[in-house]
Amino acid sequence: MSDRFDCDVLVIGLGPVGDCMAALASLQGLKVIAVDREPGIFPLPRAAVFDHEIMRVFQMMGVAERIAPLCRMPERYQFLTPGRDVLLEFRFAPQKVSGWAESYALHQPGVEEVLRERLAELDVDIRLETQCERLEQDEDGVHVTLRDAQGESTVRARYVVSCDGAASPTRRALGVGLFDYAFDEPWLVLDTIIDDAGDMPRLCEQICDPRRPATYLAMSGNRFRWEFMLKPGENPDDLLQDAVIRDLVAPWNCADRMTIERKAIYRFHGLVAEDWKVGRILLAGDAAHQMPPFAGQGMCSGIRDTVNLAWKLAWVIRGDAGDALLDTYQTEREPHVRSIIETAIAMGKIICLQDEVAAAARDAELLARQAAGEQDLSVDYPALSGGCLTGLPDAGALFLQPVTGEDRFDRLLGLDAALIGRDLPPVSIPGLRVLDLSAPEMAPFAPALTDWLQDRGVPAVLVRPDRHVFGAGDPEELVRQWTGKLQETENAQVKIPA
Ligand SMILES: Cc1cc2nc3c(=O)[nH]c(=O)nc-3n(C[C@H](O)[C@H](O)[C@H](O)COP(=O)(O)OP(=O)(O)OC[C@H]3O[C@@H](n4cnc5c(N)ncnc54)[C@H](O)[C@@H]3O)c2cc1C
Repeated sequence: MSDRFDCDVLVIGLGPVGDCMAALASLQGLKVIAVDREPGIFPLPRAAVFDHEIMRVFQMMGVAERIAPLCRMPERYQFLTPGRDVLLEFRFAPQKVSGWAESYALHQPGVEEVLRERLAELDVDIRLETQCERLEQDEDGVHVTLRDAQGESTVRARYVVSCDGAASPTRRALGVGLFDYAFDEPWLVLDTIIDDAGDMPRLCEQICDPRRPATYLAMSGNRFRWEFMLKPGENPDDLLQDAVIRDLVAPWNCADRMTIERKAIYRFHGLVAEDWKVGRILLAGDAAHQMPPFAGQGMCSGIRDTVNLAWKLAWVIRGDAGDALLDTYQTEREPHVRSIIETAIAMGKIICLQDEVAAAARDAELLARQAAGEQDLSVDYPALSGGCLTGLPDAGALFLQPVTGEDRFDRLLGLDAALIGRDLPPVSIPGLRVLDLSAPEMAPFAPALTDWLQDRGVPAVLVRPDRHVFGAGDPEELVRQWTGKLQETENAQVKIPA
Protein backbone atom coordinates (compact mmCIF):
# COMPACT_ATOMS: atom_id res chain seq x y z
CA MET A 1 0.00 0.00 0.00
CA SER A 2 1.29 3.43 -0.92
CA ASP A 3 2.15 5.85 1.93
CA ARG A 4 -0.42 8.19 0.47
CA PHE A 5 -3.19 5.96 1.81
CA ASP A 6 -4.03 5.07 5.41
CA CYS A 7 -6.15 2.15 4.23
CA ASP A 8 -7.57 0.47 1.15
CA VAL A 9 -11.14 0.56 2.44
CA LEU A 10 -12.75 2.68 5.12
CA VAL A 11 -16.01 1.21 6.40
CA ILE A 12 -18.43 3.69 7.97
CA GLY A 13 -20.85 2.08 10.41
CA LEU A 14 -20.43 -1.18 12.29
CA GLY A 15 -23.91 -2.63 12.30
CA PRO A 16 -24.10 -6.22 11.03
CA VAL A 17 -23.49 -5.07 7.46
CA GLY A 18 -20.42 -2.96 8.29
CA ASP A 19 -19.05 -5.80 10.42
CA CYS A 20 -19.31 -8.23 7.50
CA MET A 21 -17.94 -5.69 5.04
CA ALA A 22 -14.89 -5.00 7.19
CA ALA A 23 -14.24 -8.70 7.87
CA LEU A 24 -14.61 -9.84 4.26
CA ALA A 25 -12.45 -7.00 2.91
CA SER A 26 -9.79 -7.80 5.49
CA LEU A 27 -9.91 -11.51 4.66
CA GLN A 28 -9.36 -10.52 1.02
CA GLY A 29 -6.04 -9.02 2.18
CA LEU A 30 -7.15 -5.39 2.12
CA LYS A 31 -6.14 -2.90 4.80
CA VAL A 32 -9.36 -1.82 6.49
CA ILE A 33 -10.27 0.95 8.92
CA ALA A 34 -13.80 0.65 10.35
CA VAL A 35 -15.49 3.40 12.35
CA ASP A 36 -18.71 3.66 14.31
CA ARG A 37 -19.95 6.64 16.25
CA GLU A 38 -21.33 4.45 19.06
CA PRO A 39 -19.20 2.91 21.83
CA GLY A 40 -20.70 -0.57 21.41
CA ILE A 41 -23.16 -2.80 19.62
CA PHE A 42 -26.78 -1.64 19.34
CA PRO A 43 -28.09 -3.61 22.32
CA LEU A 44 -31.55 -4.51 21.04
CA PRO A 45 -32.56 -6.98 18.36
CA ARG A 46 -33.95 -5.84 15.05
CA ALA A 47 -33.36 -8.79 12.71
CA ALA A 48 -34.97 -11.93 14.11
CA VAL A 49 -34.16 -14.42 11.33
CA PHE A 50 -31.56 -14.93 8.61
CA ASP A 51 -31.17 -17.50 5.87
CA HIS A 52 -28.81 -20.24 4.65
CA GLU A 53 -26.94 -17.94 2.29
CA ILE A 54 -25.99 -15.69 5.20
CA MET A 55 -24.78 -18.63 7.28
CA ARG A 56 -22.55 -19.46 4.31
CA VAL A 57 -21.15 -15.92 4.44
CA PHE A 58 -20.53 -16.39 8.17
CA GLN A 59 -18.69 -19.61 7.24
CA MET A 60 -16.58 -17.60 4.78
CA MET A 61 -15.77 -15.21 7.64
CA GLY A 62 -14.79 -18.13 9.90
CA VAL A 63 -17.62 -17.63 12.43
CA ALA A 64 -20.39 -20.07 11.39
CA GLU A 65 -19.40 -22.54 14.11
CA ARG A 66 -19.65 -19.79 16.73
CA ILE A 67 -22.94 -18.40 15.43
CA ALA A 68 -24.83 -21.67 14.82
CA PRO A 69 -25.15 -22.53 18.54
CA LEU A 70 -26.69 -19.08 19.18
CA CYS A 71 -29.52 -19.75 16.73
CA ARG A 72 -32.73 -21.74 16.58
CA MET A 73 -33.76 -23.39 13.30
CA PRO A 74 -37.45 -22.72 12.65
CA GLU A 75 -39.28 -25.42 10.71
CA ARG A 76 -41.97 -23.20 9.21
CA TYR A 77 -43.42 -19.73 8.87
CA GLN A 78 -47.21 -19.49 8.84
CA PHE A 79 -49.81 -16.88 7.98
CA LEU A 80 -52.91 -17.67 10.06
CA THR A 81 -56.50 -16.53 10.43
CA PRO A 82 -57.48 -15.38 13.95
CA GLY A 83 -59.01 -18.89 14.32
CA ARG A 84 -55.58 -20.38 13.43
CA ASP A 85 -56.52 -21.74 10.02
CA VAL A 86 -53.42 -21.76 7.85
CA LEU A 87 -53.56 -19.26 4.99
CA LEU A 88 -49.96 -19.69 3.88
CA GLU A 89 -47.18 -21.92 5.10
CA PHE A 90 -43.51 -21.77 4.23
CA ARG A 91 -41.70 -24.95 5.27
CA PHE A 92 -37.99 -24.55 5.85
CA ALA A 93 -35.60 -27.21 4.55
CA PRO A 94 -32.97 -28.59 6.95
CA GLN A 95 -30.37 -28.03 4.24
CA LYS A 96 -30.38 -25.76 1.20
CA VAL A 97 -28.03 -25.35 -1.74
CA SER A 98 -25.64 -23.36 0.50
CA GLY A 99 -25.12 -26.42 2.70
CA TRP A 100 -26.88 -24.76 5.64
CA ALA A 101 -30.43 -24.81 7.03
CA GLU A 102 -32.94 -22.61 5.24
CA SER A 103 -33.70 -20.35 8.21
CA TYR A 104 -32.11 -19.37 11.52
CA ALA A 105 -33.76 -17.40 14.32
CA LEU A 106 -31.18 -15.22 16.02
CA HIS A 107 -30.61 -12.72 18.78
CA GLN A 108 -29.04 -9.94 16.70
CA PRO A 109 -26.81 -8.42 19.44
CA GLY A 110 -25.40 -11.89 20.27
CA VAL A 111 -24.52 -12.49 16.62
CA GLU A 112 -23.06 -8.99 16.27
CA GLU A 113 -20.83 -9.66 19.28
CA VAL A 114 -19.33 -12.63 17.44
CA LEU A 115 -18.84 -10.52 14.31
CA ARG A 116 -17.04 -7.82 16.33
CA GLU A 117 -14.91 -10.47 18.03
CA ARG A 118 -13.91 -11.67 14.56
CA LEU A 119 -12.99 -8.15 13.46
CA ALA A 120 -10.69 -7.89 16.45
CA GLU A 121 -9.01 -11.19 15.47
CA LEU A 122 -8.51 -9.96 11.91
CA ASP A 123 -6.25 -7.07 11.12
CA VAL A 124 -9.06 -4.48 11.08
CA ASP A 125 -8.35 -1.08 12.63
CA ILE A 126 -11.60 -0.58 14.60
CA ARG A 127 -12.33 2.93 15.81
CA LEU A 128 -15.41 3.25 18.01
CA GLU A 129 -16.93 6.52 19.23
CA THR A 130 -15.66 7.92 15.97
CA GLN A 131 -18.03 9.73 13.71
CA CYS A 132 -17.56 10.30 10.01
CA GLU A 133 -18.04 14.03 9.49
CA ARG A 134 -17.11 14.67 5.85
CA LEU A 135 -16.00 12.90 2.68
CA GLU A 136 -14.05 14.52 -0.17
CA GLN A 137 -12.95 12.45 -3.13
CA ASP A 138 -10.62 12.78 -6.09
CA GLU A 139 -9.47 10.40 -8.87
CA ASP A 140 -7.26 8.36 -6.51
CA GLY A 141 -9.05 8.21 -3.21
CA VAL A 142 -11.23 9.71 -0.52
CA HIS A 143 -10.28 12.09 2.30
CA VAL A 144 -12.48 11.20 5.27
CA THR A 145 -12.79 13.60 8.18
CA LEU A 146 -13.43 11.76 11.44
CA ARG A 147 -14.33 13.14 14.83
CA ASP A 148 -13.65 11.39 18.14
CA ALA A 149 -13.13 12.57 21.73
CA GLN A 150 -9.72 14.01 20.76
CA GLY A 151 -11.18 16.11 17.94
CA GLU A 152 -10.98 15.92 14.15
CA SER A 153 -8.56 13.84 12.11
CA THR A 154 -8.32 12.87 8.44
CA VAL A 155 -7.92 9.44 6.91
CA ARG A 156 -7.17 8.82 3.26
CA ALA A 157 -8.76 5.69 1.80
CA ARG A 158 -8.81 4.25 -1.71
CA TYR A 159 -12.50 3.41 -1.31
CA VAL A 160 -15.20 4.04 1.29
CA VAL A 161 -18.08 1.65 1.95
CA SER A 162 -20.79 3.38 3.89
CA CYS A 163 -22.87 0.97 5.96
CA ASP A 164 -24.28 3.79 8.06
CA GLY A 165 -27.85 2.58 8.28
CA ALA A 166 -31.28 3.71 7.18
CA ALA A 167 -30.71 7.41 7.88
CA SER A 168 -27.28 7.21 6.17
CA PRO A 169 -25.58 10.59 6.59
CA THR A 170 -23.30 9.56 3.69
CA ARG A 171 -26.23 8.97 1.33
CA ARG A 172 -27.66 12.34 2.28
CA ALA A 173 -24.31 14.14 1.90
CA LEU A 174 -23.92 12.63 -1.57
CA GLY A 175 -27.41 13.84 -2.47
CA VAL A 176 -28.50 10.33 -3.47
CA GLY A 177 -32.29 10.06 -3.72
CA LEU A 178 -34.49 7.14 -2.69
CA PHE A 179 -37.01 5.24 -4.79
CA ASP A 180 -40.06 4.79 -2.57
CA TYR A 181 -42.37 1.79 -2.99
CA ALA A 182 -45.07 3.81 -1.21
CA PHE A 183 -45.58 1.11 1.40
CA ASP A 184 -45.69 2.80 4.78
CA GLU A 185 -47.24 0.96 7.69
CA PRO A 186 -46.76 1.76 11.40
CA TRP A 187 -46.18 -1.18 13.73
CA LEU A 188 -45.39 -1.60 17.42
CA VAL A 189 -42.30 -3.80 17.81
CA LEU A 190 -41.96 -5.55 21.13
CA ASP A 191 -38.90 -7.49 22.27
CA THR A 192 -39.29 -9.51 25.42
CA ILE A 193 -37.66 -12.07 27.67
CA ILE A 194 -40.03 -14.69 29.08
CA ASP A 195 -39.17 -16.60 32.26
CA ASP A 196 -39.87 -20.36 32.28
CA ALA A 197 -40.53 -20.20 28.54
CA GLY A 198 -40.80 -24.00 28.09
CA ASP A 199 -44.49 -23.76 27.20
CA MET A 200 -44.08 -20.92 24.69
CA PRO A 201 -44.63 -22.07 21.08
CA ARG A 202 -41.37 -22.05 19.10
CA LEU A 203 -43.06 -20.64 16.01
CA CYS A 204 -42.91 -17.84 13.44
CA GLU A 205 -46.44 -16.63 12.80
CA GLN A 206 -48.34 -13.81 11.15
CA ILE A 207 -51.79 -13.54 12.65
CA CYS A 208 -53.79 -11.99 9.81
CA ASP A 209 -56.52 -10.55 11.99
CA PRO A 210 -58.06 -7.44 10.39
CA ARG A 211 -58.89 -6.14 13.87
CA ARG A 212 -55.15 -6.12 14.74
CA PRO A 213 -52.61 -7.78 12.40
CA ALA A 214 -49.81 -9.23 14.55
CA THR A 215 -46.52 -11.10 14.30
CA TYR A 216 -45.31 -13.65 16.86
CA LEU A 217 -41.82 -14.98 16.65
CA ALA A 218 -39.79 -17.16 18.98
CA MET A 219 -36.25 -15.91 18.58
CA SER A 220 -33.42 -17.90 20.18
CA GLY A 221 -33.36 -18.85 23.89
CA ASN A 222 -36.04 -17.18 25.98
CA ARG A 223 -36.41 -14.16 23.69
CA PHE A 224 -39.73 -13.52 21.95
CA ARG A 225 -40.81 -10.85 19.46
CA TRP A 226 -44.29 -9.49 18.91
CA GLU A 227 -45.25 -6.90 16.35
CA PHE A 228 -48.71 -5.29 16.34
CA MET A 229 -50.01 -3.08 13.56
CA LEU A 230 -51.41 0.30 14.54
CA LYS A 231 -55.02 0.99 13.60
CA PRO A 232 -55.87 4.09 11.57
CA GLY A 233 -55.97 7.14 13.82
CA GLU A 234 -54.47 5.26 16.78
CA ASN A 235 -52.07 7.29 18.92
CA PRO A 236 -48.65 5.54 19.00
CA ASP A 237 -48.06 6.70 22.61
CA ASP A 238 -51.20 4.85 23.72
CA LEU A 239 -49.90 1.59 22.30
CA LEU A 240 -46.57 2.01 24.09
CA GLN A 241 -48.22 1.89 27.53
CA ASP A 242 -47.21 -1.27 29.43
CA ALA A 243 -50.81 -2.02 30.40
CA VAL A 244 -51.88 -1.92 26.73
CA ILE A 245 -48.94 -4.13 25.76
CA ARG A 246 -49.84 -6.70 28.41
CA ASP A 247 -53.40 -6.79 27.03
CA LEU A 248 -52.08 -7.31 23.51
CA VAL A 249 -49.98 -10.34 24.51
CA ALA A 250 -52.66 -11.75 26.84
CA PRO A 251 -53.64 -14.53 24.37
CA TRP A 252 -50.16 -16.04 24.84
CA ASN A 253 -50.61 -16.36 28.64
CA CYS A 254 -47.19 -15.01 29.50
CA ALA A 255 -47.75 -11.37 30.46
CA ASP A 256 -46.98 -12.08 34.14
CA ARG A 257 -43.49 -13.52 33.39
CA MET A 258 -42.54 -11.18 30.58
CA THR A 259 -39.79 -8.55 30.77
CA ILE A 260 -40.11 -5.93 28.06
CA GLU A 261 -36.66 -5.27 26.56
CA ARG A 262 -37.81 -2.83 23.90
CA LYS A 263 -41.04 -1.26 22.74
CA ALA A 264 -40.89 1.00 19.74
CA ILE A 265 -43.05 2.16 16.88
CA TYR A 266 -41.44 1.49 13.49
CA ARG A 267 -42.74 2.52 10.10
CA PHE A 268 -42.23 -0.40 7.73
CA HIS A 269 -41.45 0.73 4.20
CA GLY A 270 -39.65 -0.14 0.98
CA LEU A 271 -36.89 2.18 -0.23
CA VAL A 272 -34.00 1.82 -2.68
CA ALA A 273 -31.16 4.32 -3.13
CA GLU A 274 -30.82 5.56 -6.70
CA ASP A 275 -27.00 5.33 -6.79
CA TRP A 276 -25.05 2.77 -4.78
CA LYS A 277 -21.68 4.00 -6.04
CA VAL A 278 -20.69 7.63 -6.32
CA GLY A 279 -17.07 7.82 -7.45
CA ARG A 280 -15.12 5.90 -4.82
CA ILE A 281 -17.87 5.83 -2.22
CA LEU A 282 -20.25 2.85 -2.08
CA LEU A 283 -23.43 2.34 -0.09
CA ALA A 284 -24.37 -1.01 1.45
CA GLY A 285 -27.08 -2.41 3.74
CA ASP A 286 -29.88 -0.19 5.01
CA ALA A 287 -28.03 2.82 3.58
CA ALA A 288 -28.77 1.40 0.10
CA HIS A 289 -32.17 -0.30 0.65
CA GLN A 290 -34.83 -0.89 3.26
CA MET A 291 -37.78 -3.24 3.35
CA PRO A 292 -40.61 -4.31 5.64
CA PRO A 293 -39.53 -7.21 7.89
CA PHE A 294 -42.17 -9.73 6.73
CA ALA A 295 -39.66 -11.75 4.67
CA GLY A 296 -36.89 -11.45 7.29
CA GLN A 297 -34.49 -10.20 4.64
CA GLY A 298 -33.30 -6.63 5.42
CA MET A 299 -30.06 -7.57 7.13
CA CYS A 300 -29.63 -10.59 4.84
CA SER A 301 -29.77 -8.32 1.81
CA GLY A 302 -27.18 -6.00 3.34
CA ILE A 303 -24.85 -8.92 4.04
CA ARG A 304 -25.32 -10.09 0.42
CA ASP A 305 -24.14 -6.61 -0.63
CA THR A 306 -20.91 -7.10 1.29
CA VAL A 307 -20.07 -10.50 -0.16
CA ASN A 308 -20.72 -9.12 -3.66
CA LEU A 309 -18.54 -6.09 -3.00
CA ALA A 310 -15.60 -7.50 -1.02
CA TRP A 311 -14.04 -9.54 -3.82
CA LYS A 312 -14.64 -6.80 -6.39
CA LEU A 313 -12.87 -4.25 -4.19
CA ALA A 314 -9.98 -6.68 -3.73
CA TRP A 315 -9.63 -7.36 -7.47
CA VAL A 316 -9.73 -3.63 -8.27
CA ILE A 317 -7.34 -2.56 -5.51
CA ARG A 318 -4.84 -5.33 -6.38
CA GLY A 319 -4.97 -4.18 -10.00
CA ASP A 320 -6.54 -7.41 -11.32
CA ALA A 321 -9.59 -5.48 -12.57
CA GLY A 322 -10.54 -1.88 -13.26
CA ASP A 323 -12.79 0.35 -11.16
CA ALA A 324 -15.67 -0.36 -13.55
CA LEU A 325 -15.96 -3.83 -11.95
CA LEU A 326 -17.47 -1.97 -9.01
CA ASP A 327 -20.24 -0.65 -11.27
CA THR A 328 -21.46 -4.25 -11.54
CA TYR A 329 -22.22 -4.14 -7.78
CA GLN A 330 -25.45 -2.17 -8.23
CA THR A 331 -26.20 -3.81 -11.61
CA GLU A 332 -26.26 -7.20 -9.91
CA ARG A 333 -27.57 -6.36 -6.47
CA GLU A 334 -30.36 -3.87 -7.17
CA PRO A 335 -32.70 -6.18 -9.17
CA HIS A 336 -32.10 -8.90 -6.58
CA VAL A 337 -32.94 -6.70 -3.63
CA ARG A 338 -35.91 -5.17 -5.44
CA SER A 339 -37.39 -8.61 -6.01
CA ILE A 340 -37.04 -9.31 -2.26
CA ILE A 341 -38.54 -5.94 -1.32
CA GLU A 342 -41.46 -6.68 -3.65
CA THR A 343 -41.93 -10.10 -2.01
CA ALA A 344 -41.82 -8.51 1.45
CA ILE A 345 -44.37 -5.88 0.41
CA ALA A 346 -46.62 -8.53 -1.18
CA MET A 347 -46.49 -10.43 2.12
CA GLY A 348 -47.21 -7.17 3.94
CA LYS A 349 -50.26 -6.51 1.78
CA ILE A 350 -51.68 -9.90 2.80
CA ILE A 351 -50.87 -9.35 6.47
CA CYS A 352 -51.78 -5.67 6.85
CA LEU A 353 -55.40 -5.87 5.61
CA GLN A 354 -57.60 -4.09 8.14
CA ASP A 355 -60.78 -3.98 6.06
CA GLU A 356 -62.97 -6.83 7.33
CA VAL A 357 -64.63 -7.50 3.96
CA ALA A 358 -61.34 -7.52 2.05
CA ALA A 359 -59.80 -9.75 4.75
CA ALA A 360 -62.70 -12.23 4.47
CA ALA A 361 -62.21 -12.38 0.68
CA ARG A 362 -58.45 -12.91 1.20
CA ASP A 363 -59.10 -15.72 3.67
CA ALA A 364 -61.60 -17.42 1.34
CA GLU A 365 -59.18 -17.28 -1.57
CA LEU A 366 -56.10 -18.45 0.35
CA LEU A 367 -57.97 -21.20 2.20
CA ALA A 368 -59.36 -22.50 -1.11
CA ARG A 369 -55.87 -22.49 -2.62
CA GLN A 370 -54.50 -24.14 0.50
CA ALA A 371 -57.19 -26.86 0.30
CA ALA A 372 -56.38 -27.43 -3.39
CA GLY A 373 -52.66 -27.65 -2.58
CA GLU A 374 -52.03 -24.80 -5.01
CA GLN A 375 -49.85 -22.54 -2.92
CA ASP A 376 -46.50 -21.63 -4.38
CA LEU A 377 -44.47 -21.24 -1.24
CA SER A 378 -40.95 -21.07 -2.56
CA VAL A 379 -38.78 -18.49 -0.85
CA ASP A 380 -35.92 -18.94 -3.28
CA TYR A 381 -34.80 -15.56 -4.54
CA PRO A 382 -33.64 -14.93 -8.12
CA ALA A 383 -30.17 -15.48 -9.50
CA LEU A 384 -27.96 -12.46 -10.12
CA SER A 385 -28.09 -11.09 -13.64
CA GLY A 386 -26.16 -8.64 -15.82
CA GLY A 387 -22.85 -7.49 -14.32
CA CYS A 388 -19.81 -9.72 -14.14
CA LEU A 389 -21.40 -12.93 -15.44
CA THR A 390 -21.47 -14.97 -18.64
CA GLY A 391 -24.80 -15.27 -20.41
CA LEU A 392 -24.53 -19.06 -20.07
CA PRO A 393 -27.20 -21.15 -18.30
CA ASP A 394 -26.94 -21.04 -14.49
CA ALA A 395 -24.83 -17.86 -14.56
CA GLY A 396 -25.68 -15.82 -11.45
CA ALA A 397 -27.15 -18.75 -9.50
CA LEU A 398 -25.82 -19.56 -6.08
CA PHE A 399 -23.44 -22.52 -6.47
CA LEU A 400 -24.01 -25.55 -4.31
CA GLN A 401 -21.92 -26.39 -1.28
CA PRO A 402 -21.73 -30.17 -0.85
CA VAL A 403 -21.43 -31.24 2.80
CA THR A 404 -19.96 -34.57 3.87
CA GLY A 405 -20.36 -35.14 7.60
CA GLU A 406 -18.89 -32.01 9.15
CA ASP A 407 -16.78 -31.28 6.07
CA ARG A 408 -17.90 -28.44 3.81
CA PHE A 409 -16.75 -27.86 0.26
CA ASP A 410 -16.25 -24.10 0.54
CA ARG A 411 -13.06 -24.64 2.56
CA LEU A 412 -11.44 -25.59 -0.77
CA LEU A 413 -12.67 -22.35 -2.38
CA GLY A 414 -11.24 -19.96 0.19
CA LEU A 415 -11.91 -16.41 -0.98
CA ASP A 416 -10.93 -17.02 -4.59
CA ALA A 417 -12.80 -17.76 -7.79
CA ALA A 418 -12.62 -21.42 -8.83
CA LEU A 419 -12.71 -23.42 -12.01
CA ILE A 420 -14.19 -26.82 -11.16
CA GLY A 421 -14.34 -29.84 -13.46
CA ARG A 422 -12.32 -32.77 -14.77
CA ASP A 423 -9.26 -32.70 -17.05
CA LEU A 424 -8.99 -28.95 -16.69
CA PRO A 425 -6.43 -26.92 -18.67
CA PRO A 426 -3.50 -25.42 -16.75
CA VAL A 427 -4.45 -21.90 -15.73
CA SER A 428 -2.39 -19.28 -13.95
CA ILE A 429 -4.59 -16.29 -13.20
CA PRO A 430 -4.40 -14.41 -9.88
CA GLY A 431 -7.31 -15.28 -7.63
CA LEU A 432 -8.53 -18.25 -9.71
CA ARG A 433 -8.15 -21.75 -8.24
CA VAL A 434 -8.34 -24.83 -10.42
CA LEU A 435 -10.15 -27.65 -8.62
CA ASP A 436 -9.96 -30.89 -10.56
CA LEU A 437 -12.58 -33.39 -9.48
CA SER A 438 -10.05 -36.21 -9.67
CA ALA A 439 -7.77 -34.57 -7.06
CA PRO A 440 -7.70 -36.49 -3.74
CA GLU A 441 -8.85 -33.48 -1.68
CA MET A 442 -11.97 -33.23 -3.87
CA ALA A 443 -13.00 -36.84 -3.16
CA PRO A 444 -15.60 -36.07 -0.42
CA PHE A 445 -17.38 -33.60 -2.69
CA ALA A 446 -16.76 -35.04 -6.16
CA PRO A 447 -20.01 -37.10 -6.38
CA ALA A 448 -22.30 -34.09 -5.74
CA LEU A 449 -20.24 -31.79 -7.97
CA THR A 450 -20.13 -34.39 -10.75
CA ASP A 451 -23.92 -34.74 -10.54
CA TRP A 452 -24.30 -30.97 -10.79
CA LEU A 453 -22.17 -30.86 -13.96
CA GLN A 454 -23.81 -33.94 -15.48
CA ASP A 455 -27.32 -32.61 -14.83
CA ARG A 456 -26.40 -29.61 -16.95
CA GLY A 457 -24.37 -31.55 -19.50
CA VAL A 458 -21.29 -29.37 -19.00
CA PRO A 459 -17.66 -30.28 -18.28
CA ALA A 460 -16.85 -27.36 -15.95
CA VAL A 461 -18.15 -24.46 -13.93
CA LEU A 462 -16.45 -21.22 -12.94
CA VAL A 463 -17.60 -20.01 -9.53
CA ARG A 464 -16.95 -16.43 -8.37
CA PRO A 465 -15.49 -15.71 -4.93
CA ASP A 466 -19.02 -14.83 -3.70
CA ARG A 467 -20.15 -18.42 -4.54
CA HIS A 468 -22.27 -17.35 -7.51
CA VAL A 469 -21.84 -19.19 -10.80
CA PHE A 470 -19.95 -17.08 -13.36
CA GLY A 471 -20.78 -19.64 -16.02
CA ALA A 472 -20.91 -23.36 -16.76
CA GLY A 473 -19.57 -24.90 -19.97
CA ASP A 474 -16.26 -25.49 -21.71
CA PRO A 475 -13.42 -24.72 -19.26
CA GLU A 476 -11.24 -22.84 -21.75
CA GLU A 477 -14.18 -20.70 -22.83
CA LEU A 478 -15.02 -19.95 -19.18
CA VAL A 479 -11.47 -18.81 -18.45
CA ARG A 480 -11.45 -16.71 -21.64
CA GLN A 481 -14.70 -15.01 -20.61
CA TRP A 482 -13.49 -14.48 -17.01
CA THR A 483 -10.32 -12.71 -18.10
CA GLY A 484 -12.29 -10.84 -20.76
CA LYS A 485 -14.84 -9.57 -18.25
CA LEU A 486 -12.13 -8.38 -15.88
CA GLN A 487 -10.15 -6.72 -18.69
CA GLU A 488 -13.29 -4.97 -19.94
CA THR A 489 -13.30 -3.03 -16.69
CA GLU A 490 -9.70 -1.88 -16.91
CA ASN A 491 -9.78 1.24 -19.02
CA ALA A 492 -12.84 2.96 -17.59
CA GLN A 493 -12.02 6.05 -15.52
CA VAL A 494 -13.51 6.55 -12.05
CA LYS A 495 -16.25 9.14 -12.42
CA ILE A 496 -15.89 11.62 -9.56
CA PRO A 497 -18.93 13.87 -9.12
CA ALA A 498 -18.25 17.60 -9.34
C1 LIG B 1 -38.54 -4.63 13.51
C2 LIG B 1 -37.49 -5.08 12.55
C3 LIG B 1 -37.37 -6.41 12.25
C4 LIG B 1 -36.39 -6.85 11.35
N1 LIG B 1 -36.27 -8.18 11.10
C5 LIG B 1 -35.32 -8.61 10.24
C6 LIG B 1 -35.12 -10.00 10.05
O1 LIG B 1 -35.78 -10.84 10.65
N2 LIG B 1 -34.13 -10.39 9.19
C7 LIG B 1 -33.34 -9.50 8.53
O2 LIG B 1 -32.48 -9.92 7.77
N3 LIG B 1 -33.49 -8.17 8.74
C8 LIG B 1 -34.45 -7.70 9.57
N4 LIG B 1 -34.57 -6.37 9.83
C9 LIG B 1 -33.68 -5.42 9.14
C10 LIG B 1 -32.32 -5.33 9.82
O3 LIG B 1 -32.43 -5.11 11.18
C11 LIG B 1 -31.51 -4.21 9.18
O4 LIG B 1 -31.56 -4.35 7.77
C12 LIG B 1 -30.05 -4.25 9.62
O5 LIG B 1 -29.92 -4.15 11.01
C13 LIG B 1 -29.29 -3.10 8.94
O6 LIG B 1 -27.95 -3.20 9.24
P1 LIG B 1 -26.91 -2.08 8.79
O7 LIG B 1 -25.60 -2.57 9.28
O8 LIG B 1 -27.11 -1.75 7.35
O9 LIG B 1 -27.38 -0.77 9.58
P2 LIG B 1 -27.36 -0.48 11.15
O10 LIG B 1 -27.47 -1.74 11.92
O11 LIG B 1 -28.41 0.55 11.37
O12 LIG B 1 -25.94 0.10 11.44
C14 LIG B 1 -25.55 1.40 11.04
C15 LIG B 1 -24.36 1.82 11.88
O13 LIG B 1 -23.81 3.03 11.35
C16 LIG B 1 -23.38 3.85 12.43
N5 LIG B 1 -23.27 5.22 11.91
C17 LIG B 1 -24.25 5.95 11.32
N6 LIG B 1 -23.76 7.13 10.92
C18 LIG B 1 -22.45 7.16 11.25
C19 LIG B 1 -21.40 8.11 11.10
N7 LIG B 1 -21.59 9.30 10.50
N8 LIG B 1 -20.17 7.81 11.56
C20 LIG B 1 -19.94 6.62 12.17
N9 LIG B 1 -20.89 5.69 12.34
C21 LIG B 1 -22.13 5.94 11.88
C22 LIG B 1 -24.45 3.63 13.49
O14 LIG B 1 -23.97 3.95 14.78
C23 LIG B 1 -24.75 2.13 13.33
O15 LIG B 1 -23.97 1.33 14.20
C24 LIG B 1 -35.53 -5.91 10.73
C25 LIG B 1 -35.65 -4.55 11.04
C26 LIG B 1 -36.61 -4.14 11.94
C27 LIG B 1 -36.68 -2.68 12.27
